[in-house]
Amino acid sequence: MTIQIKDSSLLKTQAFIDGQWVDGDNGETFAVTDPATGEHLADIASVGAAETRRAIAAAERAMAEWKTLPAKSRSDVLEKWHQLIIENSEDLAIIMTAEQGKTLSESRGEVAYGASFVKWFAEEGKRVYGDIIPTPSDRRGVVVKQPVGVVAAITPWNFPNAMITRKAGPALAVGCAIVLKPAAETPLSALALVELANRAGLPTGLFSVLPGSDAPAIGGEMTANPTVKKVTFTGSTPVGKLLMKQCADSVKRTSMELGGNAPVIIFDDADLDIAVAGALTAKYRNSGQTCICANRLLVQEGIYDAFVEKFSAAVSEFRIGNGFAAETTHGPVITEKAAKEIHSKVENAVAEGATVVIGGQPGEQGACFYQPTVLTDVTDTMRVFREEIFGPVAPVFKFSTEADAVRMANDTEFGLAAYIYTESMGRSWRVSEAIDYGMVGVNETAISSEVIPFGGVKESGQGREGSKYGLDDYLETKYICFGALQR
Ligand code: NAP
Repeated sequence: MTIQIKDSSLLKTQAFIDGQWVDGDNGETFAVTDPATGEHLADIASVGAAETRRAIAAAERAMAEWKTLPAKSRSDVLEKWHQLIIENSEDLAIIMTAEQGKTLSESRGEVAYGASFVKWFAEEGKRVYGDIIPTPSDRRGVVVKQPVGVVAAITPWNFPNAMITRKAGPALAVGCAIVLKPAAETPLSALALVELANRAGLPTGLFSVLPGSDAPAIGGEMTANPTVKKVTFTGSTPVGKLLMKQCADSVKRTSMELGGNAPVIIFDDADLDIAVAGALTAKYRNSGQTCICANRLLVQEGIYDAFVEKFSAAVSEFRIGNGFAAETTHGPVITEKAAKEIHSKVENAVAEGATVVIGGQPGEQGACFYQPTVLTDVTDTMRVFREEIFGPVAPVFKFSTEADAVRMANDTEFGLAAYIYTESMGRSWRVSEAIDYGMVGVNETAISSEVIPFGGVKESGQGREGSKYGLDDYLETKYICFGALQR
């Protein structure tokens, strides 16, 4: 493998099942490539339904003891895992930039963000409280929270580390076991993470990682297997819906972190500099490939021209390129297919009358690059209004009144994150409450951290990750009734 890191034993190419590094049963592999250079990085073992079944059986065995340990004992192992992630963070960041393309500074940021979930849930797992309920008669109701059971997780390529720890952290902390399928584009980050978890002393079988090129086979087993009690998914809305349907047959619990179509609403009374800075971060972070990326910039007519001028001037300073190069501000998008899909949305907008202020074309740096783009004269009939762009393209829509802004913001089936820029306290409350989103940033787009409940409404999903609420997705509520108290 051409990735140069300090500890090359973190570079794994096999699946990790029941505490063993193994090839797939049929010996098949799939290739991982660097999106910036097209360079072949590794051939990874590709597993299917049979190996997934074995991982689930191992998880059930391992969980039998793990769930009975004092929370403090589980916490100690997670603390150790956290420490190892921090100690190896530069290697993890290099692996991430190589397979995902984001700049090295973004990768470093994600590794720290990912580690923060392990640390947070190591602590929070010790605070799983119940309740005592005074019932209407001579009885007492006691409520206890118990681990939901074996968890199956499926994660995307855009955050190859943090989307894993945000699920594995709480699941393991409360006493569950987990089997995980990482995205086919970014398995190396997942395999390095589970290697560190293993070094931390996680019991055999408790955490298996199942790379594979046949996602429906792995996902099919995860959703059909009766031992799995919970499926947690981060990815696109169509795949999320499919998994929910598959889970219905055995009534599994699900958590879904799905697509977004985030509006950034900038009112005339906003501080222009703060709004431009926030919109730039929200739109172009990870080259536009985050689920909470600004998809639609909605700008009030009085500030519109000034905003477009300042925003576009800042975008013209961006330098796209290899994520390892110091001068690069923005890396490639994940695949050539993704770059083509982004371009087709720009072409659709232009065909319907949009003006390209800057960019608008594939990048010259390679097949996976797309120029940071700003579009004006955009309308709500265009694909850039209706669909998640997932690339560095900013359509700037104009609105007149607060009511228009709210209507436009809500005119989507998605409801993950939204952002508001205004200096009015009243308006920030009014609009925050009127828009149908799981998360709202007021004069702020950097809204995520381990301490907040991350998640969406409508077709952006259900469940919350991070914060004290993030434990609930992995807990069952059990009611125990104590009677005959006078005996
Ligand atoms: P995706 O195509 O849905 O893939 C996500 C994961 O699902 C991958 O591991 C993929 O495996 C797997 N998968 C695909 N088809 C499957 C099937 N039939 N059964 C089981 N698993 C299947 O999404 P993506 O393009 O990787 O990720 C981008 C999407 O994720 C965007 O919509 C983004 O908004 C969303 N996202 C949401 C959040 C959030 O917190 N709400 C966070 C990050 C990303 P393969 O890689 O092997 O195909």
